[in-house]
Amino acid sequence: MTQKTVSQALFERAQAVIPGGVNSPVRSCRSVGASPFFVKRAAGCRLEDEDGRIYLDYVGSWGPLILGHAHPRVVQAVRRAATQGTSYGVPCRLEVELAEKVVSMVPSMDMVRMVNSGTEATMSAIRLARGYTGRSKIIKFDGCYHGHSDCLLVKGGSGLATLGIPGSPGVPPEVVAHTLSLPYNDLASVEAAMKAHGEKVACIIVEPVAGNMGTVIPKPEFLPGLRRLCDTYGSLLIFDEVITGFRLAPGGAQERFGVRPDLTCLGKIIGGGLPVGAYGGRRDIMEKVAPLGDVYQAGTLSGNPLAMTAGLAMLEELGAPGIYESLRTKGERLEAGLREAARIADVPVTINRIESMGTAFFTDKEVLDFASALQADTATYAIFYREMLTRGVYIAPSQFESFFVSTAHEKEDLDRTAEAALESLRVVKMTQRRR
Ligand SMILES: *Cc1c(COP(=O)(O)O)cnc(C)c1O
Repeated sequence: MTQKTVSQALFERAQAVIPGGVNSPVRSCRSVGASPFFVKRAAGCRLEDEDGRIYLDYVGSWGPLILGHAHPRVVQAVRRAATQGTSYGVPCRLEVELAEKVVSMVPSMDMVRMVNSGTEATMSAIRLARGYTGRSKIIKFDGCYHGHSDCLLVKGGSGLATLGIPGSPGVPPEVVAHTLSLPYNDLASVEAAMKAHGEKVACIIVEPVAGNMGTVIPKPEFLPGLRRLCDTYGSLLIFDEVITGFRLAPGGAQERFGVRPDLTCLGKIIGGGLPVGAYGGRRDIMEKVAPLGDVYQAGTLSGNPLAMTAGLAMLEELGAPGIYESLRTKGERLEAGLREAARIADVPVTINRIESMGTAFFTDKEVLDFASALQADTATYAIFYREMLTRGVYIAPSQFESFFVSTAHEKEDLDRTAEAALESLRVVKMTQRRR
């Protein structure tokens, strides 16, 4: 019998006291037939596990770590802030500074409210949209993820509009009865749904680039079309930029694509690796939020000084010249390396990438929506994941997630990743032959 690794031992202990041994399901690595490694420390683009193994990290805590792990400026700022107290429950200067920074960076945001997670941001934005419009229905898209609040947990259904089918036990049908889920990138189906229900639709919420079914890029007409339909029917357009905010450009997807939502949800990068979310947008809408208005939303730890400090350090660092160009170049280099590896190994792969995020889908078809993403061969992805991990490269333990490149990934890291991908894809090819 082989000796148990420290990670394996920790996972056993974890499973006794934490459901599935993890505090967020995908970390269990079930969908790739593996068990998780436990991280001891991280720096730059590298993770070190409890057994001393080092991995090149393309998950980046699921998006926030655009500057890599333990960025010296962020660490130093948090360290200094901690000595001044870790929570006040009373306003502090840092909240004002981060709010001013966010509003100055994101084109459509006049005002912003800080919360503690992306889930809180989207949940609050939906409540606000409903309160502002006095309407109940919301439209979302199949395969988009907006956190785990009840009314957004609607599984993508096929067909034109799937009305109110909860995606999880514990969500009563009445709670999602007002949620319509439509195919991503399919403007005609949104048009039809708005024609039927438009006067009752409070908002359309969308990931302007989808990251949670793997990366799916909007067709050129999709986001402008949503903007137009919202204007026609008096509904609010909400961009869930929890991933894309500060990732695709300083002003997120709305800057990148030149489409202005009414409300924007932020998370991940805005916290610099600490728990922060935010929602904001047009002044007249945000003035409906308590205590100015009657739409209630609150948070004991919201605006937490440590989290604000980390976020500020992060956003200030992202203002350095050339950061986004460099991130794009790195994204391009990784994509090119993966494409070449797939070509040489002769394994069909469709790569969707924009700037520093992307996904390699194991399919030869275009991936434009959830239905086409689901055609990807997850069994092959599982093999690829395990082979990459063996070679010291950590990619998301699910086909339906995105990779994230950080400023800490150097050319050599990206090239080593491409080499690991080629070796891994050769193994994939052999197992495909055998099947
Ligand atoms: C991660 C994510 C969320 C949820 O954020 P949490 O901080 O995990 O609650 C919401 N929307 C999108 C687009 C996300 O990627």
